[in-house]
Amino acid sequence: MSKVDSSFVDYRPPITVVVGHVDVGKTLLLDKIRGTFVAYREPGMITQHIGLSFIPWNAVERIADPLLTKFRLKGKVWIKGFLMVDTPGHAAFSNLRRRGGSVADLAVLVIDITRGFEEQTYESLTLIRSRNIPFVVAANKLDRIYGWEPHENAPFLDSYEKQREDVQGRVEEAIARIIEEFNKLGMDADRYDRVRDFNTQVPIVPTSAVTGEGLADLLVVLAGLSQRFSRDKLRVTYGPGKGVVMEIREEKGWGVTADVVLYDGVIRKGDLIVTAGLEGPVSTKVKMLVMPKPLDEMRDPEDRYMFMDEVKAAAGVKIIADGLDQVVPGAPVFVVPQEASLDEYVKLVREEVSEVKIETDRDGVVAKADTLGTLEAMVIYLRSQGIPVRKADVGNVSRRDVVDASIVRRKNPLYGVVLAFNVNVPHDVEVEAMQYGVKIFRNEILYRLVEEFTQWYKEQKTKLIEMELDKYVRPGKIRILPGYVFRRSNPVIVGIAVLEGVIKPGYPLIRGDGRRVGTIMQIQDKGKNIPEARKGMEVAISIEGNIMVGRQIKEGDELYVDVPEEHAITLMTQFKDQLTEDEIALLKEILKIKRSSK
Ligand code: GDP
Repeated sequence: MSKVDSSFVDYRPPITVVVGHVDVGKTLLLDKIRGTFVAYREPGMITQHIGLSFIPWNAVERIADPLLTKFRLKGKVWIKGFLMVDTPGHAAFSNLRRRGGSVADLAVLVIDITRGFEEQTYESLTLIRSRNIPFVVAANKLDRIYGWEPHENAPFLDSYEKQREDVQGRVEEAIARIIEEFNKLGMDADRYDRVRDFNTQVPIVPTSAVTGEGLADLLVVLAGLSQRFSRDKLRVTYGPGKGVVMEIREEKGWGVTADVVLYDGVIRKGDLIVTAGLEGPVSTKVKMLVMPKPLDEMRDPEDRYMFMDEVKAAAGVKIIADGLDQVVPGAPVFVVPQEASLDEYVKLVREEVSEVKIETDRDGVVAKADTLGTLEAMVIYLRSQGIPVRKADVGNVSRRDVVDASIVRRKNPLYGVVLAFNVNVPHDVEVEAMQYGVKIFRNEILYRLVEEFTQWYKEQKTKLIEMELDKYVRPGKIRILPGYVFRRSNPVIVGIAVLEGVIKPGYPLIRGDGRRVGTIMQIQDKGKNIPEARKGMEVAISIEGNIMVGRQIKEGDELYVDVPEEHAITLMTQFKDQLTEDEIALLKEILKIKRSSK
């Protein structure tokens, strides 16, 4: 039966996600779009969804008519509307994963027009681009531009025409700043009505989630972008359902339920499905399928849901079944057709999941995240930042993770760490990590988490290099200050100025003719022993050796650190980046002195 069914095809509305930095207005923008266009819908046309809102195209047409004429889209748009993902942000976007790509077809990257690019703008952009999804920038909070006169729900272009010249200037400046940021990233962007090639330029639509200005433009651009899809991309069959878990939640009376975006096929009550949990694939029978009641049929909040016998893609639906408590958001959901073998589907799910959960022998960090989707986003982001990943997995940090990190740590102390994104670290695991010396980084914001790690990485790296450098005698040049001879011999104590480089206790000194004059014993600054003195410092030093001031050395003499030749060569080759040009020049001078005195 499913074979016959799957020959039927339909086109789904593009699934659209909204991402961007915190507080740019993603939530309000979604609310406003829903509120505005749902008010224009034709009665009976709306199917309600779990986690998605359907924005019918004909509702957009009513507001956007002049724009459609202007952009010659009138009557040409074949999509029936948009399925906007209700939860904004990249966690939701990440969870809309599917093998080799995303369930999302379009993305709106929201940027605060008054602030421009912010931390998470970059992160969102990395995500969108890694999934290769057409997107539009909503330059939101347009009404905050100084002097802006709002026109409720008007297309941006109309409202813009009515603004004073100086206000228009400020809008242009703000857009130019956003364009510049894109240019820095090697991308091209422009105000959407000036875009010549939507394949290479990012369209920017100024919007206000408060006044509704620009929303029509935004949806018209999205429609324009989806016109470019091959119809195949949006084709859905009536075959066995395929979906992805957006959220797992406990519901009173139903137990643990899965909110699923069904992107292809049909799911029915009683179907056997396979999805994935922390421990691997989970197969279970669909006990109930629920969708929200249409708004006009909803009488009281208690009576929110309709029980469905079957649901066709694309849809947002809640699945009630046993065993879902193990399941993670971002996991695939497949309906197993009656004639198919369960094993085959279990294998399919395992493959989909193993694409994310990576385990390699390479030196790299241990990455943990709360959902499969966020984990995948994390791995993509880490890789984009050049951070290798040894192991990536879903769930709280475990002792196993700490042990894995400690193994890496033995070989490479800088990557022997655990990065925990949106997950907890149980107390005993924390204690264990301390014992192993494994550092755990934990944050709810991916960008910050990675930043904290890279900051630490840099500091540690500098420390390691310094420790390594400490094994070598560094170049230094000093002058004995006239009038500052405190002791002439046994040991000599003199005031000196460091002319170049560094001196440390234990460093041997030579004269300009290569002759050894003894070894530095102590360095004192204002009567206190110090471990080193650098260029520009004036300090007192004691010199051990069979010498006397007035004989082998005199006031005003310049002395050099006797850098062993192997040390000089290693420093100049392996640590070149850690030395200043002056230090390198000094090393060469010292080598010359040593060679000519042989
Ligand atoms: P999100 O974190 O991106 O989802 O941002 P919200 O939608 O929660 O908005 C953050 C704040 O900005 C809230 O106080 C909103 O009222 C405000 N806001 C959002 N969009 C606009 C807008 O277009 N204009 C103005 N003036 N305020 C906005």
